[in-house]
Amino acid sequence: MSTGTGPGRQLVVAAVITSDTAVLAARRSYPPSLAGKWEFPGGKAEPGEGPEQALVRELAEELAVEVELGTEITAPAGGPWPIDERLELRLWWARLASDEAPRPLGSHDRLSWVEPDDLPSLDWLPADRPMIGRIRQLWQGR
Ligand code: C5P
Repeated sequence: MSTGTGPGRQLVVAAVITSDTAVLAARRSYPPSLAGKWEFPGGKAEPGEGPEQALVRELAEELAVEVELGTEITAPAGGPWPIDERLELRLWWARLASDEAPRPLGSHDRLSWVEPDDLPSLDWLPADRPMIGRIRQLWQGR
């Protein structure tokens, strides 16, 4: 059984988009196996695309927003967050680059600005739930 991360896994990128008081959570509507679960929005990097470039593109496609990326939020072990045996995820802080409100254009049916203390109450994708503790810890230390 493989539990670690590694070069064989396809890269997924995602963002913790922040306002002054909250972070943006997105509820998946697609595919059916993930529908109803909340995630930090993002998606798969395409071949030849840098991870940060992929993340900016995904957020424009999925939420119709332009973002400025901040620092990366790494897993406790220091690298990417494992999703499953095929995928791993890299996560960045981000802020909206304009006043334009995000809109769900792709695979989401709801967006919600959530105060970090309330993040545990959402029904998260399994890979995203472990990120919450780290996000709250970093948020408190801002
Ligand atoms: O968004 P997209 O479908 O391209 O993401 C690829 C896969 O990565 C999803 O099927 C989901 O399993 C996973 N994912 C995740 N957490 C995120 C974003 C994606 O587990 N925040």
